[in-house]
Amino acid sequence: MESEDLQKMVDMLRRGATLLSKSCPVCNSPLFKVDGKIWCPTCEKQVVVIREGEPPPPELSSLLLASLANAIYEKLRGVEARIREARDADELQESLRLAVGLLEVLERIKRLT
Ligand SMILES: [Zn+2]
Repeated sequence: MESEDLQKMVDMLRRGATLLSKSCPVCNSPLFKVDGKIWCPTCEKQVVVIREGEPPPPELSSLLLASLANAIYEKLRGVEARIREARDADELQESLRLAVGLLEVLERIKRLT
C-alpha cells in the first residue's frame, strides 16, 4: 500500500468516516463509509456494493436493461435477414422461432422498465 493512500485513509477517518470490513472491487483497498455512502479513498470515488439477493440500484438495472434491449434489437436485425433469405419452410420456421424468442425478451424488458 502506498503511503499516500494510507494518508488518504487516515484523513478519511479524521473526517469521521467509518472503516468497513469490505474492500474495493477495483483496487482492493479497504472501503470507508462517509455520509451514508461507501467510498474508496484510493480510487477516489463512490463504490456501489451490491449484496446478493438485494435488488441492484435502479440506475444500474435500467442501464443494463437498455443495453440488453440494444443487443436484442441487433440480433433481431440478423434474424430479419434470415427470414428474408429463408429457402425452405424449415429455415423459415427456425428463424421465426428465434424472432419470437427475442421479441419475448424485449417484451419482458419493457415490462421491467
Ligand atoms: Zn478502489
